[in-house]
Amino acid sequence: MGAFQKGTALWPGGIVPYQPNENHPFWSVILKAINEMNNKTVVKFIEKTVQPDYVYFTSENSGNWSITVGKAGGPHQVNIDKNVRSLHELGHVIGLVHEHQRQDRDNYIEVHREFIDSNNEWNINNVINTTEIEYETEYDVHSFMHYWDTAGVSDKVKNKELAKRIATGIATIGISEMKDHVEGRSMVYKRDRRMHIVTSEFLSPLDIYCINNVYNNYAPTS
Ligand SMILES: [Zn+2]
Repeated sequence: MGAFQKGTALWPGGIVPYQPNENHPFWSVILKAINEMNNKTVVKFIEKTVQPDYVYFTSENSGNWSITVGKAGGPHQVNIDKNVRSLHELGHVIGLVHEHQRQDRDNYIEVHREFIDSNNEWNINNVINTTEIEYETEYDVHSFMHYWDTAGVSDKVKNKELAKRIATGIATIGISEMKDHVEGRSMVYKRDRRMHIVTSEFLSPLDIYCINNVYNNYAPTS
């Protein structure tokens, strides 16, 4: 990580009140993400009492998302309907944008637009204007704010890839190394094309550095 955009509403004092929801199907996963953030950064998610600005968690069948990047003001909805990537959504809650949408990303990854489903284009193809970004650390492919390398891949590509794997066997013999590692992926790490990019469920050292730097130096105190 990581990048915050200029003008993002940061949580005063790094305190993020949240409404506990033990009926949420993935509550234990959400708590794990909260603990990761609380244990490793200066940001603290605390159970809500009377605070007007707070986070609440829903489980609508619409993917994982946060209603805004940074503090929404008032009740702030975070939807988690998958058993993974809760921590990523907490990243958006505290103000982080996607790592793979940084303007310098093409120096580090190749984005394969031809494989990406049109519904997912915005979250992968677009870059965020660097002049709008403040508080950026060096590019980090291991960031929890980086998408995984098959994110947004269209069903057409998935099926094609699957058909090819069946036709050629598990080892995908007969496919050139390059093709095997690029085809069917929405993005590839330039330094090591064999490496799979995953969205980490843990904070990387650079994630921790950037969050602490921003919240220690730029968050309002109250
Ligand atoms: Zn995201």
